[in-house]
Amino acid sequence: DDSLNPRVDAVKPSRTVAISDQANALVQAGVPVIRLAAGEPDFDTPAPIAEAGINAIREGHTRYTPNAGTLQLRQAISHKLKEENGITYAPDHIVLSNGAKQSLAQAVLAVCSPGDEVIIPAPYWVSYPEMARLADAVPVILPTSIDNHFLLDPKLLQSKITQRSRLLILCSPSNPTGSVYPKKLLQDIAHIVANHPRLLILSDEIYEHIIYAPATHTSFASLPGMWDRTLTVNGFSKAFAMTGWRLGYIAGPKHFVAACGKIQSQFTTGPNSIAQKAGVAALGLGYAGGEIVANMVKAFRERRDFLVKSFREMEGLKISEPQGAFYLFIDLSYYYGREAEGFGRIDDSESLCRYLLDKGQVALVPGSAFGDDTCVRISYAESLTILQEAVERIKKALAPLS
Ligand code: PLP
Repeated sequence: DDSLNPRVDAVKPSRTVAISDQANALVQAGVPVIRLAAGEPDFDTPAPIAEAGINAIREGHTRYTPNAGTLQLRQAISHKLKEENGITYAPDHIVLSNGAKQSLAQAVLAVCSPGDEVIIPAPYWVSYPEMARLADAVPVILPTSIDNHFLLDPKLLQSKITQRSRLLILCSPSNPTGSVYPKKLLQDIAHIVANHPRLLILSDEIYEHIIYAPATHTSFASLPGMWDRTLTVNGFSKAFAMTGWRLGYIAGPKHFVAACGKIQSQFTTGPNSIAQKAGVAALGLGYAGGEIVANMVKAFRERRDFLVKSFREMEGLKISEPQGAFYLFIDLSYYYGREAEGFGRIDDSESLCRYLLDKGQVALVPGSAFGDDTCVRISYAESLTILQEAVERIKKALAPLS
């Protein structure tokens, strides 16, 4: 009997992971593919953080930690959230997990009952709808428009809230669009949330530090009246280039985070002890990661500027300039419906990405994976030299289609 739990059939595997794996396999087979599909900084973990991890092993910090994470790291996070985000969370309002992904999944599982609605603005991070499905909840996708920088229209939100609405998932700066929600828009959303006592906000702030002035980050929980209604998720993977360490956290009202901790206690217990020591060192780098993080953000910004300029010169494209994260989500639907010699018809973001991989040897992620088939996602967590080569290849591959 090969039968599986019906949940498994309801859930799609992560397409970003699948495409990255495919591109990696091609590279291993000797094909010189440029990989711009993964959501991972190209930088190594900064030395002071890595050293703290090595010292943690030497000093014997290699045992189980408390389920919610060490008090030392929760205190450091509590301090960070106060100083940088203007939110007061005591250490017992914080649960550390093996990555922000685990924190998000546990939050969805903890607060949603079967049939509850999880409101997700599109384009969305691939995992949100699947997390809702795993909780037997129903994802309610609200489209946004590139002309409005992929930001949620509060009127649309208002019109989609029902008795069953339980969660609204916000991600700012956004993966995949790089959009940053301005404070005013968050305030408008907060006014709507205030009128719907059952609705909670799951605020994914993992790209918080990767933001390009004059854009600024606002934590939803810092808005008046929203502390009680918000679960704040953040982590170490992106700003501190610590993807492989697996460390993230949730902060919120005790009732909810304790529920997340309860689920965690039966799944994984506390996160990696070595990563937690490294996490303390990461928060010790200074305000918003200090100079080390500022230098990485500077490099991301140069790359963003280069890509935006290059693609703006091309025919038929639509771009919303990203204000944060390290992704460009460009509308390439101009090329849909065209025939490519030796390839066939390009119909959608999926076939366009296959074409760009075949002919241009550049791996991108189709927008359909993020709920917007007009676009493709380019991750610019790569050196400027590689990005220059990628742009040349994309231009060359698209030229015969114009
Ligand atoms: N949230 C968003 C929007 C992401 O892009 C990612 C990683 O790709 C995560 C959460 C998960 O990060 P972590 O590595 O901490 O699990």
